[in-house]
Amino acid sequence: MPDLRHTDIQYLHGVGPKRADLLKKELGIASYYDLLYYFPFRYIDRSVVNHVNELTGDEAAVQLRGRFITFTTAGEGRKRRLQALFTDGTGTIEVVWFNRVASIQRSYNTQTQYILFGKPTMFNNHLNIVHPEVDVASGEIVNQGLQGVYSLTEVLRNHSFTSRAIHKLVVSLLSTPAVSHIEETLPPELMQRYRLMPLGEALRNIHLPADQRALQRAQLRLKFEELFFLELNILHYIKGSSRRLVGHVFSQVGAYFNGFYHNVLQFPLTGAQKRVIREMRHDMGSGKQMNRLLQGDVGSGKTVVAFMTALIALDNGYQACIMAPTEILAGQHLETIKPLAEAIGVKVALLTGSTRKKQRDTIHEALLSGELQILIGTHALIEDTVQFHNLGLAIIDEQHRFGVAQRARLWGKNRVAPPHVLVMTATPIPRTLAMTVYGDLDVSVIDELPPGRKPVTTVLKHEPDRFKMYQFVGSQLRQGRQAYIVYPLIEENEKLDLHALEQGYEQVCDVFPHYNVAMVHGRMKPAEKDYQMNLFASGQAHILVATTVIEVGVNVPNASVMVIEDAERFGLSQLHQLRGRVGRGADQSYCILMARSDLGRDTRHRLQVMTQTNDGFVVAEEDMKLRGPGDMEGTQQSGIAFNLRITNLAQDGQIIQLVRNAAEDYLRDDPKLESTWGRKMAAHLREIFDKQANWGLIS
Ligand code: ADP
Ligand code: MG
Repeated sequence: MPDLRHTDIQYLHGVGPKRADLLKKELGIASYYDLLYYFPFRYIDRSVVNHVNELTGDEAAVQLRGRFITFTTAGEGRKRRLQALFTDGTGTIEVVWFNRVASIQRSYNTQTQYILFGKPTMFNNHLNIVHPEVDVASGEIVNQGLQGVYSLTEVLRNHSFTSRAIHKLVVSLLSTPAVSHIEETLPPELMQRYRLMPLGEALRNIHLPADQRALQRAQLRLKFEELFFLELNILHYIKGSSRRLVGHVFSQVGAYFNGFYHNVLQFPLTGAQKRVIREMRHDMGSGKQMNRLLQGDVGSGKTVVAFMTALIALDNGYQACIMAPTEILAGQHLETIKPLAEAIGVKVALLTGSTRKKQRDTIHEALLSGELQILIGTHALIEDTVQFHNLGLAIIDEQHRFGVAQRARLWGKNRVAPPHVLVMTATPIPRTLAMTVYGDLDVSVIDELPPGRKPVTTVLKHEPDRFKMYQFVGSQLRQGRQAYIVYPLIEENEKLDLHALEQGYEQVCDVFPHYNVAMVHGRMKPAEKDYQMNLFASGQAHILVATTVIEVGVNVPNASVMVIEDAERFGLSQLHQLRGRVGRGADQSYCILMARSDLGRDTRHRLQVMTQTNDGFVVAEEDMKLRGPGDMEGTQQSGIAFNLRITNLAQDGQIIQLVRNAAEDYLRDDPKLESTWGRKMAAHLREIFDKQANWGLIS
């Protein structure tokens, strides 16, 4: 469909340059093709309209048609909300918004007929709907049956770009001649074998389903296609040996590794740590470049594994580098590693954005001569001025903070061949996801915590418990322990959130006049942040009030309490990361989730998962179920170079397996994609993956 890909969306009837610009910026829709492949995420059965007087509050979702009677605002600051009364003639229902109060009040009025779509709940004996979808009931409903709901962004909504507006554009697109004949992308034998709906029909039905069954067949077809090309790409281009790069051969384990292992290491490695080190030794000795993802829950001991892997590089005459996402983390790595390295005569240095010129020059020189063996740093490390004598291993900590392009630059640091790459993450990525998303990355898992750790006790509390919560924190402080109190900070509400954090800080200072309280947030200058962090890390401050800047990696084993304010606003993985900041010593630690009392069912469930398990993988699986993998931390920025538009990795495990088999079968008969269909598909693959050329090579 090259024409569709190259027809600018602005030429579609009803778009024009201005809206085209919005569509491009907000949804990445630049061409006819992009719009055609922008699928609804949900469908409403528009043929059913509910009546207010029949609602019980147990309905999953309802559609109401009527008008607003009144709008009133209530509450202040973060509690500010907009309440409206809505009637459909049979009764009234309250509608509530907690965000965008002013702009919503401006957008709706009491004269117009609207269609509301949302989940009703019974609250204090009153029915209400929180944050419904609101559409003008214009009468001209395009499709009386199932209607697609398209996801939008805040900016689009503020430009009155509704889901219905997108729907109309799609209808208009589907009736243009350009779309009347869509070429099939899958070979006939596959179509027959799996009884797939033809592509053109599937694209039509995904937007305008004829009925439920047609919708299901369309979904299956499009998921199949999406996964099939993904698997072909992985199996044929990436796993195919021709693309596996030659790697430096680390043939031996020598004096550094053994000296450290026998004389310096203070504790026995866990079985999982040993296994993972073995896996990497094998990779790095194989003659192929290592590309390994090391997953290990927070506190599982990844740092020592990374260090010992670096020693293998050194034993073979190579240098190693360790890259961390923040200065704080890089600094902590240095602190952990330096004494270990010095004990065996290994030279280490730290390079960050704030390293002074003179020091920087010294480092550059020592790196080039090979005298400096391990360089630890932030992304300052990938700058062109940083050149190694012979870099053999690049370790990347907390990989989701780095973009693909940044990582690619590490590859050029050795002119002979790219270094081996070890990516470490504490965000546990469920198996299906890892298998599909990190196609070529080999995955190692540290699935065992060092002995003696007590699981963190996690509880869910609400505002009325606040005083008791502070009492509890106080009792821990009296035992000489330290506490974190964390506030959310999201961009849209940055000012409000900062205000909440500062208020929180003052309250904590009032409640604990005899203890020192440090505070860090993302708006601070790095130097100030480091200063405050160090107050806490060194024990001079007893409480750290912070935003999520402390989420990753920070290690203060004496801290035993993690209080998370407005916990309902965090994702599960993020909560788990935060919780991982405590429980790092041998003593019992606690995580207290402070949340609103009137939580929705899903939110309550999410927070309860936290109270029920300490296992990062269980948390990640739940997270994926609840939010869909697209939203999962660690996947969005992880350099997944394709967008799964329709497949839900959490729910479509069976299809993934089926399609993987289908792709393997296909490649058995046509391994080089040389048949007529093979060549066609190879061309299609290039089209899809071209934008992200080589992503598989850039772990
Ligand atoms: P993470 O995987 O979260 O990066 P760290 O590497 O920071 O975890 O390790 C957490 C703590 O556990 C550190 O203080 C480290 O020294 C300690 N540790 C690591 N491995 C072991 C082990 N096998 N036995 C005991 N303690 C260990
Ligand atoms: Mg770590």
